Amino acid sequence: MDKNIITQFQRIIGKDGVLSTVEDLAVYGYDGTFEDHRPDVVALPRTTEQVSQVVQLAAAERIPIVTRGMGSGLAAASVPFQGGISLAMTRMNRILEIDPINVTAHVEAGVVTADLQAAVEKINLFYPPDPSSNRHSTIGGNIACNAGGPRCLKYGMTGDYVLGLTVVLADGRILHTGSKCIKDVTGYDLNALFTGSEGTLGVITEALLRLTARPKFAHTMLAEFPSLENASRTVNDILQAGIVPAALELMDTTAIICVEEAMHLGLPLDVEAILLIDTDGSDEAALLREVEILAGICRECGARQVRVAQDEAERALLWRGRKSVSPALARKAPNKLGEDITVPRSAIPEAVRRLREISVREGQPIVIYGHAGDGNLHPAILFDKRSPDQWAKVEKMAAEVFAVALDLGGTLSGEHGIGALKRPYMQQALGSLSIEIQKRIKAALDPLNILNPGKVFPD
Ligand SMILES: Cc1cc2nc3c(=O)[nH]c(=O)nc-3n(C[C@H](O)[C@H](O)[C@H](O)COP(=O)(O)OP(=O)(O)OC[C@H]3O[C@@H](n4cnc5c(N)ncnc54)[C@H](O)[C@@H]3O)c2cc1C
Repeated sequence: MDKNIITQFQRIIGKDGVLSTVEDLAVYGYDGTFEDHRPDVVALPRTTEQVSQVVQLAAAERIPIVTRGMGSGLAAASVPFQGGISLAMTRMNRILEIDPINVTAHVEAGVVTADLQAAVEKINLFYPPDPSSNRHSTIGGNIACNAGGPRCLKYGMTGDYVLGLTVVLADGRILHTGSKCIKDVTGYDLNALFTGSEGTLGVITEALLRLTARPKFAHTMLAEFPSLENASRTVNDILQAGIVPAALELMDTTAIICVEEAMHLGLPLDVEAILLIDTDGSDEAALLREVEILAGICRECGARQVRVAQDEAERALLWRGRKSVSPALARKAPNKLGEDITVPRSAIPEAVRRLREISVREGQPIVIYGHAGDGNLHPAILFDKRSPDQWAKVEKMAAEVFAVALDLGGTLSGEHGIGALKRPYMQQALGSLSIEIQKRIKAALDPLNILNPGKVFPD
């Protein structure tokens, strides 16, 4: 990048907020996938005003801007394939206010999700959205992807907690949306528009988030299933019984083995699946009754054993195991293509059956785990990218996985977003009219196409 432009960025942010050595650029060129492309410069702003000035300069020079949280995304959405600026929000990490009366938090976009959760829990409040990456992702990134997580089943997605946003638009103007009011239908829902927009419509610099009361009690149980299909069927039986667990997670054999080898939690290695189930609430007696009912349903559906965590430490350990599935899979293969399909819950057993068929047919492992309670499965295709044969198979298998989801009335992505990786399947998933409308929205907000170009939409 032209030295003169770098000097102008330094004038806006300060020298320590602009990185341009090869080593620094390499660090901002990847995300949680296997994709990689270096930006031309990294900008680390500290204020919304600085973001606005950076965007104005970039617009004048027609430089692409790829906003970045912590780069934990699983769709290559923050990989700057066209170079330009990686606008890293991690220095905007202040919690500006926690309002216990209105039960809201006002934060900068670079706050790490787990830090916000810990801060509000200190005063018995609760921020439920809990992507497994909550220690290494930001609120801005969570909003931009509409992140989910295990607790979505009972509590909803990140977007359900967004009350207001501060957004720097593609021409540098600063837009404020929403308010602390719980009810607000004044005009179009712009919070919803920017939620899940993957950095393509604006740069989120601050967020006003809804909180809730922290549940007083929680229990976790682990049910062991000799049959994966029985485990997936159990999900529907539980929900039909009128119980909404806080989380209902599935892990298949390979996921169990990888986590157990890495963490030695005492997980069973001779079953096809486990379900990890959480209940929470304020009435301990009611919760204990729920635990019994849930355990009974699991046994009726074929669980050979149901283990209820005895204390907080055991609960935390089981959850650490579940949240480590994705990184633990590296023990089996150097690369994985972790998909994020959702299907209607009733179709989970059929989806699991068809995914296993694909794996057997192509001779390449697909690990199945995810948030089974809300129909969001993460089939992960394991492979070695250095092998052209395997890579060709993986591309074919990914198309087949998406076809299964769509055929069963599901979607391409429940929570990771489209980014660069799922663009080719958008037409099939949404059809021409929906894509045309979305492209028009993009063009209205970013006519120069400088905000995360080349993402979300098919060519
Ligand atoms: C081990 C692991 C487990 C995961 N588990 C889950 C899970 O359970 N649930 C889930 O939903 N996801 C999960 N993810 C995916 C990922 O963590 C989420 O998508 C997360 O929301 C990304 O946040 P980030 O700060 O890392 O954003 P990045 O990866 O840096 O960016 C992601 C996208 O958001 C945009 N963006 C980032 N910040 C802003 C901003 N301030 N303004 C505008 N756009 C912005 C980027 O341009 C990009 O398009 C997991 C990832 C890993 C590696």
